Amino acid sequence: MLENKTMTSEDLIKLEDEHGAHNYHPLPVVLAKGNGVHVWDVEGKQYYDFLSAYSAVNQGHCHPAIVGAMTKQAETLTLTSRAFYNDVLGKYEKFITEYFGFDKVLPMNTGAEAVETAIKLCRKWAYEKKGIDENKAQIIVCDNNFHGRTTTIVSFSNDPVANKNFGPYTPGFIRIPYNDLSELERVIQNENIAGFLVEPIQGEAGVMVPDEGYLQKAKEVCKKHGVLFIADEVQTGIARTGRMLAVDHENVKPDILILGKAISGGAYPVSAVLADDQVMEVIQPGQHGSTFGGNPVGAQVAMAALTVVKDEKLEENAENLGVLFRDRMNQMIEKSDLVKLVRGKGLLNAIVINDSEDSSTAWDICVKLKENGLLAKPTHGNIIRFAPPLVMTEEQLHDCCDIIERTIAEFEQ
Ligand code: PLP
Repeated sequence: MLENKTMTSEDLIKLEDEHGAHNYHPLPVVLAKGNGVHVWDVEGKQYYDFLSAYSAVNQGHCHPAIVGAMTKQAETLTLTSRAFYNDVLGKYEKFITEYFGFDKVLPMNTGAEAVETAIKLCRKWAYEKKGIDENKAQIIVCDNNFHGRTTTIVSFSNDPVANKNFGPYTPGFIRIPYNDLSELERVIQNENIAGFLVEPIQGEAGVMVPDEGYLQKAKEVCKKHGVLFIADEVQTGIARTGRMLAVDHENVKPDILILGKAISGGAYPVSAVLADDQVMEVIQPGQHGSTFGGNPVGAQVAMAALTVVKDEKLEENAENLGVLFRDRMNQMIEKSDLVKLVRGKGLLNAIVINDSEDSSTAWDICVKLKENGLLAKPTHGNIIRFAPPLVMTEEQLHDCCDIIERTIAEFEQ
């Protein structure tokens, strides 16, 4: 075994480069420790985490209540598979269904698996409840969607980086523009439409916030046509946008809710699909599952992580700090030629850099931000996403805004 302590960041980057597949392009920083809103690199330099593992670490790094629940369960029973019952799963299923107001949950591990689960559930419901002819069901999705990396999910992506040369693609999806109700109403007339799969805010696409009322009207249109409204809240859920779910801003209850990332506070891969009985009952033994889905460690971690969100009032904090953040950014933008705009909800925000899509400016700014003690990452060219842990204080947020302003100023000259 290689001894971590004797290795520098440079050594460790080289190791990944030599031995790992190059399926990511990380910023050149090697993290060794996390606590709350902070992370430290192997040389001991402290940073504000302004990405939160793509909104998985909403409760802050290594939250003691979450780590405590995880280690306690890990010492007791880690995995039974679903071949047998375990003494935690039922308690977790009661907890999470009451928490989000659904009859049933189907537990999985990663976001993409939960999306796959929702697609299977929707199709099966379409054949068995809606009466669509076998193999004819279609699901409407949106341009610039990001729902994960499986072959089926990349089949309905329009990002060539995500899907080029991964074909043949899975059929059964119709893509329409995001935030376009008239297109939804037009396409949904097709009697083979089973579901509408949508991100309430498109995170990966660059934090695209739809018009107010879009989600509510889209849900109404779905209801009118007997189509399932499927919300992918893997990135937007768990208080990230200032409400427990982003659909809560418009009082929408999805027919199928997809959760991942922060339901474990980033401590463990846990995802979930929630639905009421008339949908979930179409899944019978043997038709879907996962060895690790619903394991006792994940179940304990998720209960602890969701309890933290309520106990520490993270919805309120995300909402308040989000307003403050966008105010500060707008003040900066007034004086800036380099930053065009800030957009977002709660603590899911992005700034758009005034440069071409393929320029390296956003990347260069992120490298400079890192040098100045704040970690963020560009998403799609000239957009920088800002998503700190929701346990941040007002004082820390001002400190972070000072770092961002100072860094941007270095590029204005
Ligand atoms: N859905 C959305 C909206 C996401 O943002 C992501 C990941 O970023 C996923 C699904 C996939 O989650 P995972 O990476 O855990 O498979």
